[in-house]
Amino acid sequence: MRTRDAVNCDFICRFYDKGNCGVSPPERIQDAAMQPDAHPPIRGRHELLPVLQKYWGYGEFLPLQEEAMRCVLAERDSVVVLPTGGGKSLCFQAPAMCREGVAIVVSPLISLMKDQVDALRNCGIPAAAIHSMIGPSEKQRVVDDVHAGRLRLLYVAPERLLRERTFEFLQRIQLSFFAIDEAHCISAWGHDFRPEYRELSMLKEAFPGKDIHAYTATASVQVRQDIVEQLGLVQPRMLVGSFDRPNLVYKVQRRGSGLEQIRLCVERHPGESGIVYCIARKDVDRLCQALTDLGYRALPYHAGLSDQQRQRHQDAFIAEQADVIVATVAFGMGIDKSNVRYVIHAGMPKSLEHYQQESGRAGRDGLEAECCLLFSGADFLTWKRMIEESEPDAREGALVALHDMDHYCHSVVCRHASLVRHFGQQLASDNCAACDVCLGQLDQVDDPLTIGKKIVSCVLRLRERFGADYTALVLVGSRDQRIVQQGHDRLSTWGILAEVNKNSIRDWIEQLVGQKFLLKEGEYHVLKVTESGRRLLRGELTPRLLKPSAKSTTERSNSARSDKAGSGEQLDAWAGVDRSLFDLLRKFRQQQAADQHVPAYIVFSDAALRDMARRRPSTLDRLLHVRGVGEKKRQDYGLQCLALIADHCLQNNVPMDIDS
Ligand code: ADP
Repeated sequence: MRTRDAVNCDFICRFYDKGNCGVSPPERIQDAAMQPDAHPPIRGRHELLPVLQKYWGYGEFLPLQEEAMRCVLAERDSVVVLPTGGGKSLCFQAPAMCREGVAIVVSPLISLMKDQVDALRNCGIPAAAIHSMIGPSEKQRVVDDVHAGRLRLLYVAPERLLRERTFEFLQRIQLSFFAIDEAHCISAWGHDFRPEYRELSMLKEAFPGKDIHAYTATASVQVRQDIVEQLGLVQPRMLVGSFDRPNLVYKVQRRGSGLEQIRLCVERHPGESGIVYCIARKDVDRLCQALTDLGYRALPYHAGLSDQQRQRHQDAFIAEQADVIVATVAFGMGIDKSNVRYVIHAGMPKSLEHYQQESGRAGRDGLEAECCLLFSGADFLTWKRMIEESEPDAREGALVALHDMDHYCHSVVCRHASLVRHFGQQLASDNCAACDVCLGQLDQVDDPLTIGKKIVSCVLRLRERFGADYTALVLVGSRDQRIVQQGHDRLSTWGILAEVNKNSIRDWIEQLVGQKFLLKEGEYHVLKVTESGRRLLRGELTPRLLKPSAKSTTERSNSARSDKAGSGEQLDAWAGVDRSLFDLLRKFRQQQAADQHVPAYIVFSDAALRDMARRRPSTLDRLLHVRGVGEKKRQDYGLQCLALIADHCLQNNVPMDIDS
């Protein structure tokens, strides 16, 4: 069982654990958007929780959500840094229901805005977006709604917000506060810099006294500072959560058969949504074709496709008409899909920042999800070549980031611990129970001390002047031209690990680096022996050297746990769930989503459906106990869900009204 970690950060902040109504669907949505909603201003937790329960069906806050919401209620500027899936949206959406006026949400992409507005309306919250895809009459309706005080949240793209006409409009209305989503886009230090975000620095001047709240998942301290400076925030509260995602199971494997390794992972998630990332477009096309040939519903996504094709494929994935999207890194930013159950990297990403972001698209709903990373030495060289061809200024940083990524792939320390350490945090527990290392999917080698001694002594024989690859070649007994020319084929350590393959030796070297028996120095990452390495040679210390276990690849990743409302309490996310009822509810959800032209996860999250199939409520009142069912969803879908549940339970003699 794991608890969320304490956070080490300058800025810190405390860290908290955490029916068919007979109306056709589009009308229902419209209706929700048009209803004035009178909520008196609120000031504390006692009023916030009922809002969470009423609209979202959530009975608890996720870590730091309450603090973030209180900043909005207190009209104090804030920067909220939470990982993907950390529940950032609710941090401004819930308090928007409690303050007078309309909250302006700045969001970089139309797809993100659309998604959030659809989700809000499905919860009964009057929200709208203004962007280039909506026509003049809809625009006029939004303007009228704002004037009439009927809207609580209005989403706008930064470039539109800064137009003179929008500015004038906003200055005439009662607006409550500004929420800047994906706030890292304002920083040139971030991975997603958008120049139009820079103009947001005018907000404080144009709307004096209005509080601004910035939200991002980007971990870098530099980016956070930049956000504060660019937006001119006044004594902002900085809330930084844990970057760990306990519901993600991380696995790293050397790429062997490639397609077969990917197939095994996809096979563990039948009918579920997943993303496969490739480095190059041609790999996307090849892999997508291979998966399609194997019978999977896969679609490609990369910059070589037309805008329309890309949009079509993205829409099909979101609407669950395709299960797998095979993509380059071009895919992802506009995706809010909460029930992605696996992310496979068919090649190594170029930095841990990218890896965290891309793998983080799995399991946003807090349920278990698998992140499988396949790597090979060739990936490293591909990225290195690209970096060498890039802008000279950016090269040094990019190379450091690439080496960090490479080290992560080769090392065998807890993946969760390595990732959060990279972002300056610590994991509370020694065993995350959610990565290949901690789950025991890697076996200890038989005699780690002897292997360790052979490697360390080879580094010394090479006079600590060569890198990991070269050292591995010497140990395996290669007759590479360089080795022969240098006379290293005459060293006593040449070929002393000839019985194992070079890749295993290469992995062990990284493992020795990870355990500080060796270290890498300088631009060329030359291997040096540390004091611990010398003690290893004397037999005083024994390293931990691992190899992939034969059993690991075939197991379903059922070891993952979900984190119940961020409380740190880990639950088996399938415990007590009636699987066949879950499948029936999923079909019902799919139908509703298709009728309304919204993504399935907006109708109900996977978490809500599992909880429903676990509790199997018999009344509308009990339906409200299901996590993720608020009043609007109960009203819209309640009676149909109850009928489905009752039928199923009767036919299968399954008890109802299980309270957990
Ligand atoms: P982020 O924007 O940080 O990636 P989201 O706002 O999309 O995260 O939230 C991720 C998921 O967590 C969504 O499915 C959301 O409904 C759910 N969620 C948010 N707050 C809570 C809560 N207090 N309890 C349970 N689930 C929550």
